[in-house]
Amino acid sequence: MHSAPVDVDLALLGGGGAASLVLAALDRHGVRGLRVAVIDPVHRRGQDRTWAFWDRPDGDLDPLLSASWPQVEVVTPAARRVLDLAPLRYAMLRSAAVYERAAAAERRLGAIRVLAPVASVHDDGERVLVRAAGDAPAVRARWALDSRPRPPARAGRTTWLQHFRGWWLAAQSPTFDPDRAVLMDFRTPQPARGVSFGYLLPVSDRYALVEYTEFSPTQLTGAEYDAALAAYRDLLGLDPTRLSVREVENGVIPMTDAPFDAHPSPRVVRLGTAGGATRPSTGFTFSAMRRQAEQVARALAEGRPPVPRPAYPGRHRWMDAVALRALDRGSVGGPEFFSRLFDRNPAERVLRFLDGTTSPAEEIAVMSSTRLLPMVAATAADATHRLRDRLRSPRPVPPVPPPVRGSGCRPEA
Ligand SMILES: Cc1cc2nc3c(=O)[nH]c(=O)nc-3n(C[C@H](O)[C@H](O)[C@H](O)COP(=O)(O)OP(=O)(O)OC[C@H]3O[C@@H](n4cnc5c(N)ncnc54)[C@H](O)[C@@H]3O)c2cc1C
Repeated sequence: MHSAPVDVDLALLGGGGAASLVLAALDRHGVRGLRVAVIDPVHRRGQDRTWAFWDRPDGDLDPLLSASWPQVEVVTPAARRVLDLAPLRYAMLRSAAVYERAAAAERRLGAIRVLAPVASVHDDGERVLVRAAGDAPAVRARWALDSRPRPPARAGRTTWLQHFRGWWLAAQSPTFDPDRAVLMDFRTPQPARGVSFGYLLPVSDRYALVEYTEFSPTQLTGAEYDAALAAYRDLLGLDPTRLSVREVENGVIPMTDAPFDAHPSPRVVRLGTAGGATRPSTGFTFSAMRRQAEQVARALAEGRPPVPRPAYPGRHRWMDAVALRALDRGSVGGPEFFSRLFDRNPAERVLRFLDGTTSPAEEIAVMSSTRLLPMVAATAADATHRLRDRLRSPRPVPPVPPPVRGSGCRPEA
């Protein structure tokens, strides 16, 4: 028999990146008196990923950063570009610092932890009943923010993966230039279908993250990642006998135009990768998660429903679908696509474009800097497919969020 559920205002289903940023933002906004539960079989701690992103200096994350760079390099076989990112900068944040800040926020918020996987979620329009596996208590919440990994609502036309392996390399003597970060280095051998690049993010003259990344339909084997990374290390002129691999980081991030349903029922909101925060053309997710965490916390602090704006404007998802399709069909080459973007636009505009925060006029400038004809052909094919899909299966009407007064969360000043 189930015991009576624990009543809360906010249930976080999944306590990873997105939820950690929400907890920290609630704390930063001074939200108190809000009953919060976090339901995740794992209490995330320590180092399980490194986030790199761009932002303006002097933000709330500054004390947590491992490093930041005002300039980054984009390298192709033909040229090495040094991009001045001002007024932005490229920043590195290790997960341990984020989870630690979230844990402190959780303590101050008096949040409940349920260390079990969510087994079922039932939204009756007023409350969300969340049952966890085993003997763990059920939770009844006014709102649920769900960041559990899940597949998209339906299949996309292009389904790629951003998959990578990184080595944290320690050197015995000064080896890296901490002022020189490499964002993308396309001198790596390019896969038959897809794009590959290496990058180098030094946090000191003796410690750096070197990574090999592919945007492509399928992952490599462990031995293949190691071989690709070793080859990239050699390409950088780094002597393996003077270096040791201290940490290994692996990752797989979806890159797809498939839709993620960010608001599946009146009181359930999806965040993080599950909510569409992963930018299809780049895999970058962090900035959108951070933006949405801020919107959620602000809304709760003001007694409004915690429903953030979509992670990216619809027109960006459209442009990404087009770009992914063009890359997949080989109508534009990856290194060429990215190097033209950076060659023909101020770096800051490209970075804001990739974050989904540019104006339509800037987007026209960015899109027209890529090779136009294949993109137009890809756009036309995309539009035809969209129209055909729509005619075949009309989209269901999305659920309407309840009125603002219904939120019932109880923030304090
Ligand atoms: C190694 C790695 C490096 C990355 N680097 C970058 C980067 O540099 N820049 C960038 O922008 N993005 C990056 N990303 C992409 C993205 O930012 C991260 O994946 C981010 O952690 C996504 O946050 P999330 O909350 O959506 O998912 P996660 O952080 O994966 O959190 C999901 C949580 O759900 C929990 N969960 C799973 N099943 C259940 C269940 N049944 N019930 C309850 N909880 C459950 C998991 O235990 C986990 O804690 C990286 C991803 C990886 C894997």
